[in-house]
Amino acid sequence: MHEASLVRSLLRQVGELLFEHEAEAVVTIRVEMGPLSGVERVLVELAFADLVESTECRGANLIVEEVPLSARCRDCAADFEIERFRFACSHCGSSRVQVTGGEEFRLLDVELKVPQESGSL
Ligand SMILES: [Zn+2]
Repeated sequence: MHEASLVRSLLRQVGELLFEHEAEAVVTIRVEMGPLSGVERVLVELAFADLVESTECRGANLIVEEVPLSARCRDCAADFEIERFRFACSHCGSSRVQVTGGEEFRLLDVELKVPQESGSL
């Protein structure tokens, strides 16, 4: 399954961050996902639930942020969001639009639990 391999590489990436920052645990993993990413949100969440407990990231929460499909007009250079897959500029009506966002599935940020400094002890 496509989602499972994406989640597996996501968890590997976060596991490396955990190690780099000498953190105790991963609290939250935030990813962004566009409508053209070719990824099903439900399947990502299922794969995550299935895989996370066997990695260094166990106990982490996954937050999926859905990003809109965005585009830039090649005629008037306006940036706009595409709704209902209507590929036309919202300003001038041109159909010469370039998709600038919405194809991604990527790690946004990670909240790590870092051991407290014990300087006062
Ligand atoms: Zn335009």
